[in-house]
Amino acid sequence: MATDSQLVVANSLATLDSALAAPHSRRVVVMTMGALHAGHLALVDRARILAGPDGQVVVTIFVNPLQFGPDEDFDRYPRDLDADLALLDGHGVDVVFAPSAEDMYPGGTPRVTVSSGELGTLYEGAARPGHFDGVLTVVLKLLQLTTPDIAVFGQKDAQQLMLIRRMVTDFNLPVTIEAVPIVREDDGLARSSRNAYLNDHERTTALALSQILRSAADAGQAGATVEDIRAAALDVLAAHPAVDLDYFCLVDPATVEPVRPDFHGEALALIAARVGSVRLIDNMNVPVDGTGGT
Ligand code: AMP
Repeated sequence: MATDSQLVVANSLATLDSALAAPHSRRVVVMTMGALHAGHLALVDRARILAGPDGQVVVTIFVNPLQFGPDEDFDRYPRDLDADLALLDGHGVDVVFAPSAEDMYPGGTPRVTVSSGELGTLYEGAARPGHFDGVLTVVLKLLQLTTPDIAVFGQKDAQQLMLIRRMVTDFNLPVTIEAVPIVREDDGLARSSRNAYLNDHERTTALALSQILRSAADAGQAGATVEDIRAAALDVLAAHPAVDLDYFCLVDPATVEPVRPDFHGEALALIAARVGSVRLIDNMNVPVDGTGGT
């Protein structure tokens, strides 16, 4: 098992190559924007297990300017590499790759970027035009630079995960994508680097997102139809006027399209909302069999 005393921090492409050259069997990569928390650590721990004792775990830390819109939080996004490295201590990471924007995009925005297609224009993509093109571009670059056998992503960013899986399939990329369930606070709030923006009052209000999803999942479990599941979710939303809903959507994970009223099976409920100035996303599996319920 790799120990943390072996952890190498590569701040540039030049140092990355020598860091990766250390002998290893398989390589597993976790891509992050830093401001690490327990959600990221779950991915890292999974990566360590997948890598095995002789494998190499690589964590990338890069706040990717391409995936932020002009009015978004790129400038205020929390950046603290020392705190991130301290948090990773004890989690068996071999290499941290924390490049500069100049290293990743010499000369500024690349002329050629990945298009996330139609799926990239739905839900998060509708609210954040160009976001998923930026995400897929940096993911493809980081896959090229780190050449992992496996890359681990969080279910927290469900649409991103679906798009990355599609890119890997559509471009025949030689990597296996592994997903890790959402890590939540004890009270249900999904862990997110952006939770740091919330004041105490907003932090309480933000609980509504997971409560709305839970009410949908409970209704589904009780046999409710698609329409009744939606109504259950909107009931909870109505009790939280401070939550500025962007979208609540039940989608078919196979097609990523909104489910039809007669859908049966495992749906995915996606939610995005603004709490104060903070935009949060969350999601939850919702079984739909429509056999009972109210
Ligand atoms: P980010 O740093 O926000 O770009 O996230 C990096 C990776 O961590 C992505 O694959 C996210 O889906 C994943 N991630 C972030 N928060 C969580 C969470 N609460 N639970 C599971 N995975 C997460």
